[in-house]
Amino acid sequence: MILPKSNRLTPAQLTEVTSIVAEFGCTIQPIIGAVRTIYAIVGDERDDLMINRLEGLDYIDRIDRIQSPFKLMDKRSDLASHRISLGGVTLGEELLVIAGQCTIDPKNPNYFYETAAAVKEAGAHVIRGGVWKPRTNPYSFQGDTKSLDILMEGHRRTGLPVDAEVMDEQQLQLALAAGVHLLQVGARNALNYSLLRAIGRAVAERDTVVLLKRGLHMGSLSEFISAAEYIAAFGNPNIILCPRGTAPTLDGYRSHPDESITPLLKEKTWAPVVVDPSHSVGKAVYVPACALAAVAYGADGLCIEAHVSPSHGIGDDPKQALTPEVLADTIVRAKQVWELAHKVKTGNS
Ligand code: PEP
Ligand code: MN
Repeated sequence: MILPKSNRLTPAQLTEVTSIVAEFGCTIQPIIGAVRTIYAIVGDERDDLMINRLEGLDYIDRIDRIQSPFKLMDKRSDLASHRISLGGVTLGEELLVIAGQCTIDPKNPNYFYETAAAVKEAGAHVIRGGVWKPRTNPYSFQGDTKSLDILMEGHRRTGLPVDAEVMDEQQLQLALAAGVHLLQVGARNALNYSLLRAIGRAVAERDTVVLLKRGLHMGSLSEFISAAEYIAAFGNPNIILCPRGTAPTLDGYRSHPDESITPLLKEKTWAPVVVDPSHSVGKAVYVPACALAAVAYGADGLCIEAHVSPSHGIGDDPKQALTPEVLADTIVRAKQVWELAHKVKTGNS
């Protein structure tokens, strides 16, 4: 990782640096941060001669050689000072709430518009709405591209950014063309490296944010963070990690709740963590407690399924969605826990 003395390298400096690393079989990937651009050396950066030559350039501040499988997402990376903002919230400074329907019903768009307005009123900063859905049963409703227009209309009506999952490159291109602000990578695709690469490439020159869910069968935390590195490696570091429960082990909860991994993630990566309690416990009645626990464990935000009339919803909404009243109450309490958790962290309590 090359850190220049100024905010960014001039084109001539970039050319010089690129030609030096090329001699050692490496390339340069600029990573544009809010304050300054840093330059990742892609390839084997262990050659001391290459490092010495780069360090000898008068416009280079220093070279960081992080021995980590995820050198950009690593907590020791210079990107650790990168901040991600969405819906008026800078992650880490205030609890971010993403809420809305699991699945938009293209036959009943008004439910989505009402839900969008209600979750905004309840205190959400980002509206979620599933357009294309990964369904276990191939005969279940798989989503509909028409719902993309409904999602964007929800954005226009509320003024809030919107979140939708993409499962392939075509959906990715459609979502970006429509202006989706937060791209969700679902639990089933968290290890789909070609999709992760395609997303990285597609968002490289944009300020789009990616919400990367934890895979159902992910084991080590490095596997999760490395999946984020696949996206960041193309130049956009706006990636949020989203624990959402792993393969079920308990009779009763949909998944094995994993909101307790946040402190462990934060020891390894600077990436913000937004927990999804809805898919973790999988039943509306259990969601508020899981949400509060997630915040107590240090989550920077929550992603919660909600619907104005869950029984009229589709996908997960009839069983998982909170009503706007319960969502509002959960947000109030989650903010209180956030304050407490942060007081504990800073020792001010
Ligand atoms: C969803 O967010 O509706 C969803 C399908 O999530 P996950 O990928 O976590 O199962
Ligand atoms: Mn869902």
